[in-house]
Amino acid sequence: MIDRQKRGLRKLGLKTICDLLFYFPSRYENFSERKNIIDLKEGDKTTIYGKISDLKMEKSWQRKMPLSHAIISDFTGTINAVWFYQPYVANILRIGDKVALTGKIGRNKTGLYIANPSYEKINSYEALGKGAALLAIYPETTGITSRWLRFAIQKILKTIAEFPADPIPPETLNQYHLPSLKSALIFIHTPQKLSDAEAARKRFSFEEVFFIQLSHLKQRVEHKKKHSFDIKIGEKDLHNFLSIFPFELTSAQKKAINCIVADLQKDRPMSRLLEGDAGSGKTAVAVAATYAVVNNGLQVAYMAPTEILSQQHFQSFINYFSQLRLTTKVGLLTSTQVAKFPSKIKTNEATHISKAQLLKWVANGEIPILIGTHSLIQSKVKFKNLALVIIDEQHRFGTKQRARLVHQPATLTEQRGRLEQPIPHLLSMTATPIPRTLALTIYSDLDLSLLDEMPPGRQKIITKIMEPSQCHNAYEQIRQEIKNGRQAYVICPLIESGKLEAKNVTDEARRLQKDIFPEFKIGLLHGKMLPKEKEKILNEFRKNKIQILTATSVIEVGIDVPNATMIIIEGAERFGLAQLHQLRGRVMRSIYQPYCFILSGSRSQKTKERLNALLSAKNGFELAEYDLRFRGPGELAGMRQWGISDIAMEALKNMKMVEASRLESQKILENDPDLKNHPLILEKIKSQKNNIHFE
Ligand code: ADP
Ligand code: MG
Repeated sequence: MIDRQKRGLRKLGLKTICDLLFYFPSRYENFSERKNIIDLKEGDKTTIYGKISDLKMEKSWQRKMPLSHAIISDFTGTINAVWFYQPYVANILRIGDKVALTGKIGRNKTGLYIANPSYEKINSYEALGKGAALLAIYPETTGITSRWLRFAIQKILKTIAEFPADPIPPETLNQYHLPSLKSALIFIHTPQKLSDAEAARKRFSFEEVFFIQLSHLKQRVEHKKKHSFDIKIGEKDLHNFLSIFPFELTSAQKKAINCIVADLQKDRPMSRLLEGDAGSGKTAVAVAATYAVVNNGLQVAYMAPTEILSQQHFQSFINYFSQLRLTTKVGLLTSTQVAKFPSKIKTNEATHISKAQLLKWVANGEIPILIGTHSLIQSKVKFKNLALVIIDEQHRFGTKQRARLVHQPATLTEQRGRLEQPIPHLLSMTATPIPRTLALTIYSDLDLSLLDEMPPGRQKIITKIMEPSQCHNAYEQIRQEIKNGRQAYVICPLIESGKLEAKNVTDEARRLQKDIFPEFKIGLLHGKMLPKEKEKILNEFRKNKIQILTATSVIEVGIDVPNATMIIIEGAERFGLAQLHQLRGRVMRSIYQPYCFILSGSRSQKTKERLNALLSAKNGFELAEYDLRFRGPGELAGMRQWGISDIAMEALKNMKMVEASRLESQKILENDPDLKNHPLILEKIKSQKNNIHFE
């Protein structure tokens, strides 16, 4: 094997024979629909077999576009082949090569040509024509072509002494008409017909979802065997506490608090996910849970993904608790800030203290509530009796941080002379609307509370979808509202100008300042800026020293500036619906009329329909479902962070399949909770690296 191939294999992560077997094609090329060159017509989408009689790299005259150009002949005629913007093709193929080309037939001044065809070197025309009508096309890299992979994998399939054992029980395969592992491997790499390949993909996607659920359910069974802290909550006491909120709780909030309070009083550790749109009032629920725990002399850790959010929560907790006139101490710990409330001197203010001092007070239990970023999971941070962990915007924690959080309770909780260490309760919160199938899969170990109701008094947002040429209407509206004291966001897809034809924040901020809004101050915010710079800009925006914040989608999470009531989203077709909805959520945080201007220059009817869903959908969940159905799961914002492969995402479009795998895994664990009779499943669960969802 040459070095280039070795490097290529390493890059694709293919080390063993098994890795190769489980490296699946991304699609299939149907070479059976081939035509002779003489029979080609403009508009055909087809495959031709032929020999390369001329090949060169060129630049098109008018547009200076680099391209590869070849002349292909078979025994009936010749045709041009052109690869626009792919000059390197001329280096890969050689004059004299026999090739199969698949693509669309176009016509220009010089006659017919095949445009941007996918290409395959072949040894003889016959070898392709017979046997495999469908050719597997794999994700490729330098040195490793589909052809190479096909050859290597077919050799393995033919010579392998023993296929890996099938981890799915045969009863389950039968019940859902799924092919065995061996058949599925053969089908997926060398299908005779498309339905074989589909059956194989269905099996592998079922398998992945099935094992995610099995391992979650197993964790859940284990978790429920553990003990938690003794917590008692007097009904009257809680009622009194809830009555100090400056607003009447929504019935969704009440329901969630009741569930949590019931969970906390059980001896088993709670694992609950609180899911609700941005602005639905998750913090109040977290505060109520915190109160219940602190009132029992126990501690609470509250973790948020950014410094800004941590500070925001620190302030809200202080506000809520000081209204109770409780002398509850609250600590703040981030990488740049360490603070405590109340200050000894000014008892209604927070004060900065040393980290060592804070850690001491947390360790001896004097500070019952600690709020902060992932700084909380450093091993130096020790609690006396941590009974509740709250994670805000939990999806925002990186996989590594999440993995470390799994171990957090063990290191944080002190042994208290018990034989068994109590496990803290967990309340996880998220505003990411995700489709039900995905929730059932990745959160199958959690109990779910939904905040599906917004606090009263919010004005309904006015959403307008417009062509970029109409943007002056939006600008005028914004000018009026800013004169009335409000603020606005302008969101662009890119940070700087690049190859893509889309607006970038850097140029847009400059343009808005110079040409459109010279009378206001425009700010710029994007992910490449340093944390300090970001904070400075945000603070200026918060204080209304900046009226219009031009930003990338970084503002999606965490920024809570109620006075910002307008948002323009440029290049909206580039965002997922759920993401657009979250961006829109930024401006729905006050009693003022909010506006959202969706700008898209897309001519596609489909895109227009999709964006129109923003006008009709009742909530983020509906939009997430819509995205999943019409754009494919890969389009859901940040799906990959859950460690789900493309193939399993196919299963998520199929509620029946997700329910079936759930039912099967429940059945197996009910009859065999320790998986003694299912050693293959046990082994597979143990080896599952994907299993990082930390709850
Ligand atoms: P999120 O769910 O996005 O975390 P927050 O907890 O930040 O939402 O709440 C958003 C805003 O709504 C806050 O200013 C909060 O004070 C307010 N709020 C929360 N619950 C209610 C309610 N029941 N009635 C009125 N306002 C509420
Ligand atoms: Mg929040």
